Amino acid sequence: MEKRIVILGAGESGAGAAILAKKLGFDVFVSDFGKISDKYKAMLDEENIQWEECTHTPELILNAQEIIKSPGIPNDAPMVARAAEAGIPIISEIEFAGRYTRAKMVCITGSNGKTTTTSLIYHIFKEAGLNVGLAGNIGNSLALQVAQGDRDYYIIELSSFQLDNMYEFRANVAVLMNITPDHLDRYGHCMQNYIDAKFRILQNQQSEDAFIYWNDDPIIQNELPKYKHGKLYPFAETRQEGMAAYTEEHRIVFTEPTPFNMEQEELSLTGKHNLYNSMAAGISANVAGIRKETIREALQSFTGVEHRLEKVARINGVEYINDSKATNVNSCWYALQSMKTSTVLILGGKDKGNDYSEIAPLVREKCSALIFLGADNSKLHSFFDSFGIPTVDVTSADECVQQAAQLAKSGETVLLSPCCASFDLFKSYEDRGRQFKESVLKLKSTTEQQ
Ligand code: ADP
Repeated sequence: MEKRIVILGAGESGAGAAILAKKLGFDVFVSDFGKISDKYKAMLDEENIQWEECTHTPELILNAQEIIKSPGIPNDAPMVARAAEAGIPIISEIEFAGRYTRAKMVCITGSNGKTTTTSLIYHIFKEAGLNVGLAGNIGNSLALQVAQGDRDYYIIELSSFQLDNMYEFRANVAVLMNITPDHLDRYGHCMQNYIDAKFRILQNQQSEDAFIYWNDDPIIQNELPKYKHGKLYPFAETRQEGMAAYTEEHRIVFTEPTPFNMEQEELSLTGKHNLYNSMAAGISANVAGIRKETIREALQSFTGVEHRLEKVARINGVEYINDSKATNVNSCWYALQSMKTSTVLILGGKDKGNDYSEIAPLVREKCSALIFLGADNSKLHSFFDSFGIPTVDVTSADECVQQAAQLAKSGETVLLSPCCASFDLFKSYEDRGRQFKESVLKLKSTTEQQ
């Protein structure tokens, strides 16, 4: 009898895993406790893959030899707990797909900067003409790409949730951007559990592999001696012994394997955080042997990622920026830090146990007004009201942009960088960002008609 593989969760990763498993000849069943979107139902039906939605039937799940779990489902979800108790191995889609490809894996994790760095690396590899795929939290699932034809390289964004269920997978190039508190609700409110999950990116590395990381992160520094890893390629803002990249006199200096440098001003992405992201991406490409001219040009031509410090429009001398993806306090810190003008900051949403003291000095220094966009703004008021900065409460994107237009003076910036998840008023951070952009563009067209 064929091995039975059950897939829990039929989103991008689950549907992709099902298609690959079916192609490999396994007995495949997909179970989703919620509704499956029409797109994924159609994909499963086309391959004659059995599925169920809005329920988990134990008899159809607990007879699996292996379970592939979507990273969105927590380990303490009842069906996952029962499967674990029954001794069924539970793996992630990336772990599964990784078994069936010989491609080189460039994997990126960290608390912030994953998507930007992953997209930037992908852009450089594409510009270099390599046969490369983008996978993980962005793009098509790795499993689907492996099923449909495979590549020489995959650039994979890995969240801690994906890493949780990875065991044999090997990252030929591992990139760790930073570690700051996030998602602690899924890690028993224990920071060390979250740190351990991030460091799983190093498991199975061999001496010929590469580990690229931000040298100034105290947590990374502290943990590194505990792990076996490939060759180290640290990067830092200032020159230090042994760095693979650093800055000096407004230039980024890449030291190895191929030494070269470029003007910091030439980078297409601005702000200190993007300097780090660009360094990490440049080193990844350098390690892969891509020509320095190509790396330089690609770091200049990258157009950015939606909802990450994305410039939306300039209206009456005011710049509107959508940074809806800033769903924790640290990412807002970097956004504020990169602001060159006085700023009207839009904050709020579903608070994940935030401590706003990290951004307090920057708010005092840079913000001329605060707009609270959330269903319940009481925590924001109790923290920021004493700052003496004007605040207003809003509950929709339209209202938010109208208020911003009244508060912001010519020469200022309106920044949506909310520190919070979006689920109280919006479907997702993408929905929040798009509604914000639509409202800004509406304002622009009415202003132009006047
Ligand atoms: P992730 O995929 O890890 O959530 P993104 O690239 O989507 O990261 O960026 C999310 C937000 O984090 C951005 O809006 C930006 O404000 C901030 N950010 C981006 N890169 C970094 C970095 N290297 N360090 C800290 N914050 C960052």
